[in-house]
Amino acid sequence: MSGHDPYAPQSGDPTFDVLSYDLDLDYRVRTNRLDGRAVINAVAAERVRTVALDLIALRATRVRVDGNPRTTFRQGPRTLRVTLPQPVDAGEEFSIEVAYAGAPAPRRSQWGTIGWEELEDGSLVAAQPTGAPTWFPCNDRPDDRARYRIAVTTESDYTVAATGVPRPPVTVGGRLRWEFVSEVPTATYLAAVHIGRYREQRIGAARFMQPATLRAEVKRAFSDVPRMRACFEAAFGPYPQEECTFVVTADALEIPLEAQGLMVFGANHLDDESARLIPHELAHQWFGNSVGVGVWRDIWLNEGFACFAEWVWSEASGGPTIAQLAALHHSRLSGLPQDLVLSDPGSAMMFDDRVYKRGALLLEALRRTLGGDTFGELVRRWARIHRHSVVSTEDFRACVELVTGETHAALLDAWLDQPALPSLPPAGPGDSVRG
Ligand SMILES: [Zn+2]
Repeated sequence: MSGHDPYAPQSGDPTFDVLSYDLDLDYRVRTNRLDGRAVINAVAAERVRTVALDLIALRATRVRVDGNPRTTFRQGPRTLRVTLPQPVDAGEEFSIEVAYAGAPAPRRSQWGTIGWEELEDGSLVAAQPTGAPTWFPCNDRPDDRARYRIAVTTESDYTVAATGVPRPPVTVGGRLRWEFVSEVPTATYLAAVHIGRYREQRIGAARFMQPATLRAEVKRAFSDVPRMRACFEAAFGPYPQEECTFVVTADALEIPLEAQGLMVFGANHLDDESARLIPHELAHQWFGNSVGVGVWRDIWLNEGFACFAEWVWSEASGGPTIAQLAALHHSRLSGLPQDLVLSDPGSAMMFDDRVYKRGALLLEALRRTLGGDTFGELVRRWARIHRHSVVSTEDFRACVELVTGETHAALLDAWLDQPALPSLPPAGPGDSVRG
């Protein structure tokens, strides 16, 4: 990316890219006190002398570049500006070590309060789109993916789940230290830490962390996950993440959240009415987390696919078919204002449900036009060639052309770039997403 994301112009620094974050966090649940040390290995995208890290409501106490104690830094309300001891040329690597501390809290944004949040008895991270700096200094851009090592030391009666492959916890001074390592390139907003009085259970290959009192309820609510995952592997290709962990909090949450290899639901999401949220979050492991947007304008690529995946699972599990759900949502959308352009909805509208549904309907329009076999090939190709990388709407158009030999420009222009809702092509008999 060159320049700042127009939807989040105050976030991120385009002059460098992070290769890895090494985070050592000490967290006290009872007092909400975080003491952190971050080592950020980065590469300069141009010649740089000063770089900006996003960091909010936490105070940097010590900063070193490449171990140099003469590093100077200046902290404002959103940004930690670090002056390198000497300029670094494009392509050269450098490392920034930041010691920081404070009482982490969610930040206010036009998308509500996001970031590190205290629960009744524990905490979580809900960072999408710009909440990551509430718990670690970072280059907060969705296109700057990095590897992570996250270590969290906390009171021994709590369990920690975080992005990455867990190692067995070790006791340090009567407290527990948990460590997670992820080799998967992960956007800052998809890195997460969850702390609570959780017990673990497995359902198929998936790991569930929930309060002991919710064990049976979680087992019932998520019993379809193994079949759901198999269904999505047939439709989208192999499960792309290192881990498949679900956290269910004792608290009610407004919405479930996805992170890399990690999904979090509230205690209020265990009823039948919330069941459609499970395939949605699971599908984000392919679309959003593996294949994910580089600028927020393209959010339909995350949410349209996740919403379409809800319909795929509904049909596969004997519920309403994709065609029926598409017809239903098309009819609902046609009664709502048509003032939103899918390829550029504006920052205020990026999480509007119309973006989600219209994105899914675009995919259904393509499926009806191409037929189930070619459409299935398109989706699997999309997930495969862009596995663990950043994509744009242009990349999607290119993939359509690659798979079909045609641009399908008229269809794509109408769905992506015009506010008026196009009509759906007629449903073919026996269309299926499986190739
Ligand atoms: Zn979603």
